[in-house]
Amino acid sequence: MDCLFCKIANKEIPSKKVYEDEFCYAFEDIAPAAPVHILFIPKEHISGMGGITPENSAVVSKIFEAISRVAGDMGLDGGYRVVSNCGADAGQTVFHLHFHLLAGKPLGGMCSIGG
Ligand code: AMP
Ligand code: ZN
Repeated sequence: MDCLFCKIANKEIPSKKVYEDEFCYAFEDIAPAAPVHILFIPKEHISGMGGITPENSAVVSKIFEAISRVAGDMGLDGGYRVVSNCGADAGQTVFHLHFHLLAGKPLGGMCSIGG
């Protein structure tokens, strides 16, 4: 399957790793929308929010555990935002489930990804 984020998770394409465990991989976004902009992805391919099923949804809680841990380790005391874009109206460009962790400045309104 020709999927950019599968290749990043498999280390076929380089990325700036922030966190990794058995289930998920986190790396710096190549075009940061905030001073802290990290992408969290499942190692297994899931196309996006719409691809989450009862069979694969356990990895989502693992990803959120990882987000909480990374945010704590980074000391993001000013707060942070977690975003997942699903489909055309939301501007999804990579069709492998991912969660953006944004922080490091006031992030603006809800409909603005990075303020
Ligand atoms: P989305 O628009 O929600 O699908 O988010 C895709 C994100 O992937 C964007 O914020 C891009 O900047 C980011 N991105 C695309 N290619 C790479 C890459 N090779 N390494 C890191 N981030 C990437
Ligand atoms: Zn993939």
